[in-house]
Amino acid sequence: MVPPTQKLPWPQVLLNNMKTLVDLLLLGDPRLYEKCEPVLQTELPLLADWVADMDNVMREIRAKYNFGRAIAAPQLGIMKRLIYMNIDRPIVFINPEFTWLSDEKFELWDDCMSFPNLLVKVARHKKLTINYLDENWQAQEWHMQDDLAELLQHEYDHLEGILCISRAVDPKGFKWRL
Ligand SMILES: [Zn+2]
Repeated sequence: MVPPTQKLPWPQVLLNNMKTLVDLLLLGDPRLYEKCEPVLQTELPLLADWVADMDNVMREIRAKYNFGRAIAAPQLGIMKRLIYMNIDRPIVFINPEFTWLSDEKFELWDDCMSFPNLLVKVARHKKLTINYLDENWQAQEWHMQDDLAELLQHEYDHLEGILCISRAVDPKGFKWRL
């Protein structure tokens, strides 16, 4: 069971035009294969709206499909290097970069909100270090492993225009989820 998401720590505005499930880009949309642009510091005033959109769509995905720990901005057509994660608290990753990836990898069945019924067997680095800017434009560094590490690798791929279907370990590494 997915735990309920926590409220965002910063003010939410723009309720009328908030993005919903119908705005989520689905497999086949060419924008999912585009590389995203860095977020500029001058764009920081837009962040609250972007995150509110991502939070709202992730809540709808969880309600419908019972999965979803994070979402990348390009999945909503926001072609920016921005990831929103909410597992036990909301976290934004602005312009994230991996500064270290372990040689050790592990395999898992990956899923994606942009093709919610398809599972893809992929290999991900077991541990990594991610550097990013937070919502206050402060530099952050986080060492993570296992579940979090594979999650951030999946979301980072979205910023590069890469979907997990391109990383299937072999041609039979696909499974339909009922
Ligand atoms: Zn995805």
